[in-house]
This record gives sequence, structure tokens and C-alpha cells, in this order.
Amino acid sequence: MERTFLMIKPDAVQRNLIGQVVSRLEQKGLKLVAAKLYQANEDLAKEHYAEHVEKPFFNKLVSFITSGPVFAMVVEGNNVVEVTRTIVGETNPAKAAPGTIRGDYGIDLGRNIIHGSDSNESAEREIGLWFDKSELNNYKLNNENWVYEK
Ligand code: UDP
Repeated sequence: MERTFLMIKPDAVQRNLIGQVVSRLEQKGLKLVAAKLYQANEDLAKEHYAEHVEKPFFNKLVSFITSGPVFAMVVEGNNVVEVTRTIVGETNPAKAAPGTIRGDYGIDLGRNIIHGSDSNESAEREIGLWFDKSELNNYKLNNENWVYEK
């Protein structure tokens, strides 16, 4: 089982979409390992998006992400990075397929609802940035045999 980091961004929190987004993850069969409503400071936002530091949208992105609380999550499942990237949809919500979170809830690139780690390495790094080890819950979902063949 792998883990990934997902974050419902301030736009979706303000639009009362936390429940609908979390529902989609639960319906898929993914397991929530940690979750919290949390307003990031500038240092955390800059560190999280460090790979984009040279990009023209970097400052706007950092001020958007710190503008209000996000709903940060650690989610577990088989092949979870790929599965969640598919559910999240492509970066630009105007182009994201209907049925994806971004495709169903967003329009603007700068208001694209949710973040999901793009590799196992980023997932490890981002989980470590946003969560303390003590916040990660180790438990078994009793429906596991009904979600996975083995
Ligand atoms: N972003 C933006 N303007 C752009 C490109 C990206 O505001 O022209 C923001 C957008 O919120 C995106 C984030 O920067 O989700 C990170 O970009 P990335 O290319 O890593 O996309 P993601 O992995 O989130 O799909």
C-alpha cells in the first residue's frame, strides 16, 4: 500500500466543497490516514511549491494557498498516486475531464480545487512537510477485501 498527500485548496474550502471531495475519495475505496483543516504560513507554502519557485505564477500561488485554511490529507491505497491524480484531473480545470474533481468543480487554473502529489517521492516529502508522524493513523479498514482482490 502506498500513501499520498492531498490538499483541498482554500477556494474549495470557501465554497463548502470539503465534504463532496472527501466523499469521492471514500467512494473510490481509498483510506484516510490523516486529515486536518490548517492555514499554512508562507514558509510552508513556499517549501511545498519549491519546484515552482522560478515560475511567474509562484508568488500568486503562495498567497492563494496561504489565504485561508486548506484541508490537508494523507490517503492510502494501492497505486494511490496514480489513482488520485486520475480522480483529481489535469491542472487546468477548464480542460479537465468531466467526472474528475477539477473538471467538475473548477474553471480557473489559479482556483483548481485540490492538490495531489505527483510521485511517491513527492508524496513522502509533502506528507513530511504537512504532518507530524504522530498525526498518521495506523488502522485497517474492514472493507479492504471488498476493495482489493488480494
Ligand atoms: N498554477 C497556476 N498557474 C499556472 C500553472 C500552475 O496558478 O500557470 C498553480 C495551480 O494551482 C497548480 C499549481 O500551480 O495546481 C502547481 O502546478 P503543477 O504544474 O505542479 O500542477 P498540479 O500538479 O497541481 O496539477
